[in-house]
Amino acid sequence: MAQQKKKKPVIVKLGGKEFEIPEGAKVKDVAAEHGVEIPKLTVDQEKCKGCQMCEKVCETGAISGEKKEPHTIDQEKCIQCGECLAKCKLGAIVPA
Ligand code: SF4
Ligand code: SF4
Repeated sequence: MAQQKKKKPVIVKLGGKEFEIPEGAKVKDVAAEHGVEIPKLTVDQEKCKGCQMCEKVCETGAISGEKKEPHTIDQEKCIQCGECLAKCKLGAIVPA
C-alpha cells in the first residue's frame, strides 16, 4: 500500500511568535489562543512572486494582482482574518 504523505504543518509567524494552524482551524482563532491580534497586513513587494494563493483564499476579495506580479491588499476590504498569512509560503504577507 502506498504510504500516505504527511502534510507539512502550516506555520504562521506573528507578533514575534510562531504557531501551527491545525487543518480546518481559523488563523484568527489560533492567533487569539496565543494572545495575538491579527494586525493590518500588507504584501512585501520584494518577496511576493504573484502565485495568487493568498488571493484565492481571501473571502473578501481584498487581495489583487496579476499572476507572477506582486500583489496588494485593499485595506478597505480586509477584515484581518489572517487566512492569507497561512497561504503565503514566501512570508510575503507582513504587518502593514
Ligand atoms: S487578512 Fe483575510 S481579509 Fe485580509 S487580505 Fe488576508 S485573507 Fe483577505
Ligand atoms: S501567496 Fe504570497 S507570494 Fe503568493 S501572491 Fe500572495 S503574497 Fe504573493
